[in-house]
Amino acid sequence: MKLKEREFWFVVGSQHLYGPETLEQVRDHAREMARAINRSSRIPCRFIYKDTVKTNDEVVALVKAANNSDKCCGIVAWCHTFSPSKLWINGLGLLQKPYCHFATQYNRSIPDKEIDMDFMNLNQAAHGDREHGYIHARMRLPRKIIMGYWKDADVLNELGKWMRSAVGAVESRNLKVCRFGDNMRNVAVTEGDKVGTQIQLGWQVNTWAVGDLVKEMAAVCDAEVDELVAQYKELYDINTKNMQSVRYQAREEIAIRRMLEREGAGAFTNTFEDLYGMEQLPGLATQRLMADGYGFGAEGDWKVAAMDRVIKLMTEGMGGGSAFMEDYTYNLDKGGEYSLGAHMLEVDPSIAADKPRIECHHLGIGMNEKDPARLVFTGKAGKGVVASLIEMGGGLRLIVQDIEAITPPLQMPNLPVARVTWVAKPNLKDGAKLWILAGGAHHTVLSFDADAQMLADWAELMGIEFVHIGKDTTYEGLKQQLALGELIRKLS
Ligand code: MN
Repeated sequence: MKLKEREFWFVVGSQHLYGPETLEQVRDHAREMARAINRSSRIPCRFIYKDTVKTNDEVVALVKAANNSDKCCGIVAWCHTFSPSKLWINGLGLLQKPYCHFATQYNRSIPDKEIDMDFMNLNQAAHGDREHGYIHARMRLPRKIIMGYWKDADVLNELGKWMRSAVGAVESRNLKVCRFGDNMRNVAVTEGDKVGTQIQLGWQVNTWAVGDLVKEMAAVCDAEVDELVAQYKELYDINTKNMQSVRYQAREEIAIRRMLEREGAGAFTNTFEDLYGMEQLPGLATQRLMADGYGFGAEGDWKVAAMDRVIKLMTEGMGGGSAFMEDYTYNLDKGGEYSLGAHMLEVDPSIAADKPRIECHHLGIGMNEKDPARLVFTGKAGKGVVASLIEMGGGLRLIVQDIEAITPPLQMPNLPVARVTWVAKPNLKDGAKLWILAGGAHHTVLSFDADAQMLADWAELMGIEFVHIGKDTTYEGLKQQLALGELIRKLS
């Protein structure tokens, strides 16, 4: 489902005390606001005025309808007037969709001449939103609070970004990850509790034999391969004479895509240690699937594969790009420190700064009989984040670090893979130290679209620990935060 097909329901709290005329005005104002908000380019999904709720039964009915709607990804509530919040308790107790408390006001200014007691009774969001906030706090309801005037760009931006986080939370409950084979032997960080993660996040993570994929590849006919290779020639520079290898990757792409579509999976993994029956690790094939929005994790890393998919869904249409990434090596020249990220083949061309070229090179790692084809390119520059989800035993931790990607200062003519370079916040030396302290993995999702706030909101909706490393993060501060996280984990 595209973002524009998803709905957020604008629900206005009130009561019968004010009489029908006031309630009609409340409804008209809310409709006007919803129409304007829905038209804003900052709002990625449909924003619909749903109802003005005045009784316990109305709130219960509305929450049940939201829970049952596949399109509804959240409720945005506001109190134009006062709405006694005991009316909301039973409904909110049933709530299964993301919830935003939009503390706004129909009028921007207090009108000097016009203001009287009727005006005050109609426009008392300052009053009503406090009663509403109390009941959320009392019920420990996970919720986003946005405060500000509904026409302001910063307010609409905040609302739009929260909607994206909410879509990520709703889609997590539907996400299937297809693992081709297991994860790389002896690696710790790619392991995890699949049952615990499904309970917490909804991700369905299951394994398919590599042999099933090999069978699927054998069923791909030559004409289909011809057609796909013709597309490659249009999209990329062909910098190889080894068209047999390129054709082999096309066959892999078609077969993997077919299996993912059949299973309804949004993400997949594989490992170079388990390619039995295949001539080469999917490189170009995987890169193409990632560019089409599939999440991917190498070495069987299903957590990063799923995170990649969730972030791609959340950031649809933003245009910056999000990619599976691996920290590879550092440049530690004083004053010119940066990280070089890449992978053995599978770097997502969504973040390419130049036209990718197809090349074939020997891959010395794993069971690769032939030189696998891959897309080689340079990553773009700009502000972004890297995100890593790790299993702490008894719970997950999402670590997000702010980064500044830079144009690679070196040509690196003998590096046979796509490359991305960046400087972590607060700086490489402290940033890497903080990342290591938090336990962040070498596999991440690098995103030019998602920011720390969007991912923090997603983590809160999923009920998992969140760690942000930014320009102001200190070693001592982070240590304290992690200790607090441990305490909460032990108590819960
Ligand atoms: Mn790796």
